[in-house]
Amino acid sequence: MSLPKVFAIADQAIVDPITIVPELCTGCNLCLHVCPVDLFLPNHDKGGPPHVLYPGECWYEGSCVDVCPEPGAIRLNRPPAMRVNWKTRAALGPSNG
Ligand code: SF4
Repeated sequence: MSLPKVFAIADQAIVDPITIVPELCTGCNLCLHVCPVDLFLPNHDKGGPPHVLYPGECWYEGSCVDVCPEPGAIRLNRPPAMRVNWKTRAALGPSNG
């Protein structure tokens, strides 16, 4: 009897919870200051994006994204289990409207 194969697929969100787009980031470090677990480190180059030093410590609470003044400069990659699958009323059908 052979056992079924089990495959584990690495979840990018767990590996890399924060994505900073260097072309959009101005290095203001506001995200760094609001992070409750201090997972960022300031960039030694003035104006450079902060380094994500402790990605495994992220709580995914999103204050870094909320405070960022540059749209799209920082993105939070929540694990699939934390993502809400919102649907519009119209998508639910006429009995739910
Ligand atoms: S708050 Fe936004 S612009 Fe400022 S350092 Fe963080 S990612 Fe860059």
